[in-house]
Amino acid sequence: MSANADFRAIAEKHLYGNYRQAPFVLEKGRGCEVWDVEGNRFLDLCAGVAVCAVGHAHPKHVAAIAHQAATLTHVSNWFYNRVNIELADKLAAITGLDRVLFCNSGAEAIEGLLKLARHHFWGIGKPEKKRLIAFHNAFHGRTMGALSLTGTPKYREGFGSLEGVTHLPYGDLAAVEAAMGPDVAGILVEPVQGEGGVLPAPEGFLQGLRALCDAHGALLLLDEVQTGVGRTGSWFGYQHFGVKPDAVAMAKGLGGGFPIGAFATTEALAGALPPGTHGTTYGGNSLACASALSVLAIVEEEKLAEGAAQKGEFLAKALRAIVEEFPKVCEQERGVGLLRGLVLREGFVARDVVPQIFARGVLVIGAGDRVLRFCPPLVVTEAELAEGIAAVRAVIAELAAK
Ligand SMILES: *Cc1c(COP(=O)(O)O)cnc(C)c1O
Repeated sequence: MSANADFRAIAEKHLYGNYRQAPFVLEKGRGCEVWDVEGNRFLDLCAGVAVCAVGHAHPKHVAAIAHQAATLTHVSNWFYNRVNIELADKLAAITGLDRVLFCNSGAEAIEGLLKLARHHFWGIGKPEKKRLIAFHNAFHGRTMGALSLTGTPKYREGFGSLEGVTHLPYGDLAAVEAAMGPDVAGILVEPVQGEGGVLPAPEGFLQGLRALCDAHGALLLLDEVQTGVGRTGSWFGYQHFGVKPDAVAMAKGLGGGFPIGAFATTEALAGALPPGTHGTTYGGNSLACASALSVLAIVEEEKLAEGAAQKGEFLAKALRAIVEEFPKVCEQERGVGLLRGLVLREGFVARDVVPQIFARGVLVIGAGDRVLRFCPPLVVTEAELAEGIAAVRAVIAELAAK
């Protein structure tokens, strides 16, 4: 038996089995490379689903986590803690917002936004204003509230749903306009739909949503869990559109692999969730905040947001070349910065193509049914992107030859 098979045997017995994992067992990483328990090397172009923004084991990130672990790991929300305050200050500066609430994951950050919106209107004597608008194909997480806003019915099947959620076609401003009314508390939207298939918001969409929210006294809630922290070429996706949200959720890239989530909001909403209405034990945990502070410092020092725009163009061009070469297999390339998708033609299934790319030593993931998603560490080099593209091209060429 191989080491991979030995571990797999235990995993198949004792892990819950709610994921379909690849057959190899990863053990260590450095930069954009990871290795399995047998020493096989993979180029990582998915970064734990847009999480490992500064790559694996970045020396400064490792040092910051180690230092904080040896200094103070956790107190509780009954006490201020230094790094938590420093991180809130930094996030206020880069979001252009005022107030930050910490949690542990993307879904929790979304839960926070939903509770913020509903509690705000309840608190100002408008309890009827509680309907939430979200979009088809949107992904907002797996907890019951976030799941209710998630736009893919198959994720919601069998679980029931929050009341008062309306799902509309992404990009369709007229549909939103028609659905708006005095009962709408907020609109929740991703600037690029990630899980749904790497679909950027069409021109004018976010601006249009902002205007509709203003006209109807509703809140514009941005889900930047996947797009935040430099991935799209600016700190946050909404900054490309010149739109200011009422609140923004972030997670994934923020901790660079250490679990943390947060939302940032305006001073106007600072009183919507007073003491006792919301919170979580680990929210603002020192170790998590030190990890995030270090990620933000590295993104700044190494100009990784600017790099995401440049390298994203390089990646896009290479993917477009594959689309042109194999039009029978590929439909288009799309995305923003270092969140890119190669859309396969009807009849091809991303889930079935991904393992063939793994077999060539490159990690990518699917998005939607037929999109190959690239969301590499922001520290990726053009040489590494070229290596990954060569593997993808070889697999697409095989599909085209069949
Ligand atoms: C991943 C994701 C979430 C959920 O985050 P978790 O940390 O998995 O709970 C929410 N929204 C978007 C856009 C995401 O990509």
